[in-house]
Amino acid sequence: MSAIQNSGEIKELCMICEEEKNEGIHLYTSFLCNDCEKQMLTLEPGEPLYQYFIEKLRKMKGIQIYS
Ligand SMILES: [Zn+2]
Repeated sequence: MSAIQNSGEIKELCMICEEEKNEGIHLYTSFLCNDCEKQMLTLEPGEPLYQYFIEKLRKMKGIQIYS
């Protein structure tokens, strides 16, 4: 994980969009930005993007996600 100190703001690399954001949540040991978190909440199981998110999450740490 990369964390960059930038004039008082800490930016972290989002595991989904792979952009550096300073607002988001920590999920296990990874970072999920606000935008991706919101997007994720609107997805329904079965949507291609949902699968993409789940795959990303799985690859992070080999954790199991049950839907
Ligand atoms: Zn993101």
